[in-house]
Amino acid sequence: MRIGIIGAGQLGQMLGFAARDLGDSCTFIDPGASPPAAEVGEILQAAFDDPQALAKLAASSDVISYEFENVPVDALLGIADEVPVYPPTAALRHAQDRLAEKRLFEQLDIPLPAYKAIDSLADLESAVESIGLPLVIKTRRLGYDGKGQAILRNKEQSAALLEELGPVDLIAEQWVPFDYEVSAIGARSTKGDVVTYPLTENRHADGILRESRAPVDNPELAKLGEDYMSRLLNHLDYVGVLALELFVVGDQLLANEFAPRVHNSGHWTIEGVTASQFRNHILAVTGRELEPPTLLGHAGMANLIGEMPPADGIPADGQLHDYGKAPRPGRKLGHITTVADSASERDRKLAEIVDFVTKSTRGSGPAT
Ligand code: AMP
Repeated sequence: MRIGIIGAGQLGQMLGFAARDLGDSCTFIDPGASPPAAEVGEILQAAFDDPQALAKLAASSDVISYEFENVPVDALLGIADEVPVYPPTAALRHAQDRLAEKRLFEQLDIPLPAYKAIDSLADLESAVESIGLPLVIKTRRLGYDGKGQAILRNKEQSAALLEELGPVDLIAEQWVPFDYEVSAIGARSTKGDVVTYPLTENRHADGILRESRAPVDNPELAKLGEDYMSRLLNHLDYVGVLALELFVVGDQLLANEFAPRVHNSGHWTIEGVTASQFRNHILAVTGRELEPPTLLGHAGMANLIGEMPPADGIPADGQLHDYGKAPRPGRKLGHITTVADSASERDRKLAEIVDFVTKSTRGSGPAT
């Protein structure tokens, strides 16, 4: 089948590889001159919401999908009559607005941190009273990798913090003293069948994902993650892969946010299971049966941020994925995955890889 994909970054590239393995072809829209997915399909160089480029993509595709959640919904609605768009735009709409997203979690009885919509200084002061400090203040729209966020530690900073984040709709969230962070990844087919991936533990720094480990060895949490994932997928009449990020607090999972797309925390699935998130996304959006992912071991993934290590000499059977992007501080340039027979062996191998990356690069700069 012919798949049109909006966005041609590394996620598009990995979707393109999966599509090629399945005998499908991909065409991408991207404003970049030589984005990562150029290696695996034709690029229509245009803005993501360029009507002409979208019309051209729709005319030459059997289905449209996207690799990031900031695609303008209206642009997709403009082509949705001509060609199926998966995941459905309702999912995109919720994921683009933290308030709508949180209300959806509430509606589906998925636990989440206490929060309040903030439109004024008075709202923020009342959030301090009702939720307590510290508070995480986030922009409602267009935030990613920790951008558009600030922590309010004392009440006196309220006005300055509102000033700093600008005149945009905000949300104040309870700062969660989590034990660790996890993501649940699942896929749903056009027929409504669901597959879920093992829960993944994620470590962030400066709001950017640095390392992932799977599976999380906690059957109760895994069951909760699968349950919340199924509720979301079924409610949204979803088609494709969805990633749900959660905080672990004791035996509870609190939902942070979801992405209606393949996700960085699922990169390990390329080597770690029989059917990666990319493969199941392509299977789902093209209307085929999903493949249940069978674990092949304990997987660890390290993101390569800001600078690439040398391709030679990567230790611990690390599989290097180089997205072919120009280096820039804070930019995701690639990742390395390793798979082992036990969790402790996986942790040892991942530590060796991280040590190699740290020593052979100057370390990653702050996010830009
Ligand atoms: P987000 O953009 O919401 O995914 O946030 C980026 C990262 O900031 C998360 O992965 C957490 O590490 C941290 N973070 C976000 N919200 C909270 C919160 N309410 N409490 C504690 N840490 C948070």
